[in-house]
Amino acid sequence: MITAIDIAQQPKEKFIDPREVETDKAFQRIGNLPEDWMRWMLRIAQYDLNKLSEGDWSNLSYEFIALRWFPHGRKGNIPRIVIMVGGIFSTPTRTQVIKFHKDLNLVLDCILKKKIILFEPKLIRIEFDPPENKRAQWHIGFRADKWEDALEYVAAQWFSIYIDKIKQCPRCNKIHLADRKNQEYCSRRCQTQAATQTYRERKGLISGRPRGRPRKEVSLKGKKKGVKHAKRK
Ligand SMILES: [Zn+2]
Repeated sequence: MITAIDIAQQPKEKFIDPREVETDKAFQRIGNLPEDWMRWMLRIAQYDLNKLSEGDWSNLSYEFIALRWFPHGRKGNIPRIVIMVGGIFSTPTRTQVIKFHKDLNLVLDCILKKKIILFEPKLIRIEFDPPENKRAQWHIGFRADKWEDALEYVAAQWFSIYIDKIKQCPRCNKIHLADRKNQEYCSRRCQTQAATQTYRERKGLISGRPRGRPRKEVSLKGKKKGVKHAKRK
């Protein structure tokens, strides 16, 4: 049997590359602001690469694809950084990630010890692209043949922008990006714990809970209260 099909009536199904879906997920994990990417870099630096699962490595690969897709400069005043290496789905190899991890730690060590950091000179391209586009903007481009070079360039850019806000938490030692220059602790939790400890030390109390104040049991009532509070936000 022959059936005539009106092609115009057929639903147009757009082919979506599964790698695009995974890259979108990577964006959702990291965030859209330049500082979210600085935080991502700090997180990578503090990963124990030996403990990453195959799934973690796969996620990380897509985060590198997202990094080169990320339109820096759309928000904030960070110049747009264009990494030209391989195809749009090109990712660094595991050896290159290990090298990047080592470099990041070297840079962080220098920052925390207030030592001079030297990055090799890189070929930088500044262009207005594409000039015929009304919304075209200046961006800083970097053409690299190797991911190592591209990552080193991106790290040099971002660390130079955020260096003042990179702090090591005096309580848990985590390296974090502070919201303000004078913020020392990584979280409110660490800040509170440190304040409590200082208070106890000053009052001569032994570490641990002071007498007469038993540990509160987490009751259902308490949990409900928490939910209510969250809703009100
Ligand atoms: Zn902390």
